[in-house]
Amino acid sequence: MDNKDILSLAGDPRFISAIYNYCDRWCERCMFTSRCLNYEMGQEEDDDPEARDLNNEKFWEKLHSIFQQTISMLEEMLKEQGIDPDSLDMEAAEEENHRRRAEAEAHELSRAAREYREMVDNWFKSEQSLFEQKEDDLNTRLKFGIDGNEPYAEAVGITDKVDVIRWYQPQIYVKLMRALTSEYWDDKIEEKDAIQTDSNGSAKVALIGIDRSIGAWGEMRNYLPDKEDRILTILLHLDRLRRKVEQFFPEAREFVRPGFDELEVMENNRVY
Ligand code: SF4
Repeated sequence: MDNKDILSLAGDPRFISAIYNYCDRWCERCMFTSRCLNYEMGQEEDDDPEARDLNNEKFWEKLHSIFQQTISMLEEMLKEQGIDPDSLDMEAAEEENHRRRAEAEAHELSRAAREYREMVDNWFKSEQSLFEQKEDDLNTRLKFGIDGNEPYAEAVGITDKVDVIRWYQPQIYVKLMRALTSEYWDDKIEEKDAIQTDSNGSAKVALIGIDRSIGAWGEMRNYLPDKEDRILTILLHLDRLRRKVEQFFPEAREFVRPGFDELEVMENNRVY
């Protein structure tokens, strides 16, 4: 795909502008795949299995061609906006970025999100044998027809909740870091919309990840009643993080994510 193809795809009204900027990147579970440019471009890559093979020469050739397309798109964009890339004080901008990142890393929100990430890793590591026991137990009940289909439903339920927890576990931290680092740049924009900022959008995605993780842990508590105490500790930590994010980004939940938060409007206007 060359940059003309990318630009013509980008102008296709089928796609919702920038929908992929404030989603959770869980494409397998997304209801907007047919309206997402990012997904469409990814599919084109996936059509060719060789292009995904890290050891395949074609992969590196493709990467080189993407690099060239990106550079020429960047040049076109800078020209359009009348920006001379050589006039930018790259060193100062780089220093500022480092400083912002270090500040965000030290912030109580990112520290709490990192702590959550570690708590979850430790929990899964220490409870590995419990999951094995649970699997044996469910298989035995299925084999002897105890409780009908219930063991099957329970196995599906547990797998589903583990998937949710594992999906959002690293993402909460990543999105909060983005919210904290963007906040500084958002503040510099004159005449900005106070709610539709990148920091609010990123914080909202983190909050959605937290909400869904809380729901999944709540269900895990029912599946694994013997582990209630440790699960409650994790839940309390997450809930505290949720409240702190809401305090620090009080308008985040009002941010309207392209597509996801416009469903009602789109349905009323019969956009799709
Ligand atoms: S909007 Fe949906 S399809 Fe597009 S990148 Fe996000 S999760 Fe994937």
